[in-house]
Amino acid sequence: MTATAEPTHGPLPAGIMPATAWGTARLLAGTTSGRVDLARHRALHGVPRRADAHHLAAALEAVGLLGRGGAAFPVATKLRAMPVGRRGHVLVNGSEGEPASHKDRTLMYLAPHLVLDGALTVAHALETERVTVVIEDPSAFSSMAAAVRERTDARRVRLVPHDHGYVGGEVRAVSRALSGGPAVPPGRRVLPTEHGIGGQPTFASNVETFAHVALVLALGPEEYGTVGASGEPGTTLLTLLGDVPHRGVVEVPTGLPLSALVGPEPGPLLVGGYHGTWIDRPGELTLDRPALRAAGVPLNAGVLARLPGGTCALGEVATVAGWLASESAGQCGPCFFGLPALTDTLHRLASGRATTEEVRRRAGLLPGRGACAHPDGAARFVATALPVLEDEIATHRTHGHCGRPLLGALPAGIRRAAA
Ligand code: SF4
Repeated sequence: MTATAEPTHGPLPAGIMPATAWGTARLLAGTTSGRVDLARHRALHGVPRRADAHHLAAALEAVGLLGRGGAAFPVATKLRAMPVGRRGHVLVNGSEGEPASHKDRTLMYLAPHLVLDGALTVAHALETERVTVVIEDPSAFSSMAAAVRERTDARRVRLVPHDHGYVGGEVRAVSRALSGGPAVPPGRRVLPTEHGIGGQPTFASNVETFAHVALVLALGPEEYGTVGASGEPGTTLLTLLGDVPHRGVVEVPTGLPLSALVGPEPGPLLVGGYHGTWIDRPGELTLDRPALRAAGVPLNAGVLARLPGGTCALGEVATVAGWLASESAGQCGPCFFGLPALTDTLHRLASGRATTEEVRRRAGLLPGRGACAHPDGAARFVATALPVLEDEIATHRTHGHCGRPLLGALPAGIRRAAA
């Protein structure tokens, strides 16, 4: 498949990646010349349709819409778990604390009204006016603020800057921060639909999810489902990094072969970002969240990264592992003790002073023991790299290095790194 829409033109602010639609442009419709203002948005998508909670949930269920923040939870199920009435909150999570991911900030910058349409649609269905959007990126924040000023139906939407890193962007950490607490996940697992902002039920999801909600109602479920995979119809946003044919943010129909996105060649390929899974080739995998999850390769927030051949791949993995350790809230044992120890063991592996088995054993101590999924994700990121990098690790074991420089192909520590 080739790109049928040009990337965004004109200068883009730092942190906002060029964005391209492959095939049908829905989320990115009209963005070829940059940000879509209200008049253009209305010409493209019309006046947003409204539905009550019952009918909205039915429409979302008809297309099998899954959340786009990482957990891929069915959106209709989440909506049905919410009480209808004035107690509830709607939380649009645009924190995007993973430095490899740029899709949400890019969507908020380019198509802010689509995100607002979705948020206001959910708020209408839940009969609440309490809508909060948290945003990490300054340019995305400015665009969303301008969008709120451009329209009359969003005056009560609250935009909140939120720059609390990776774990601080986890939805329960965001809810806690908005309730006056620290931006760290609570020590026990609670559902935002039961105990969210201010202890009230909160419908929380990723910004891309809300944009899809707006599209489902604007197009109707039948039209929405005319593109994409049968298991997950529609389009999705991805961030493509590293040695791939088209770096940047892309909107693509689901169901595409992964090889069309990252090339068919073998080589270390990261699917699902920094809580994701390393594989050694795309093989027959297709872009379909349920299918990828069943294959043990969840898409998470949609980052696909292929390491260039000229970089020290083990060094890349160790660098990100160190960043993941630095991002933890440090309140649970597997993060406080386990992630630094895992990083140290990885660095010793890179210098030939530790074995793969030691790394595997350290990673195996982490899952299921924290108050959030951060140690589980970090362990997956490291453990799945080991078989994929087997040859490189053998070279490190023999020589103490692989002879290649560390290029920093995987951004770590700079949240708005360029592609
Ligand atoms: S598991 Fe780690 S990141 Fe999650 S709450 Fe505990 S210390 Fe924080």
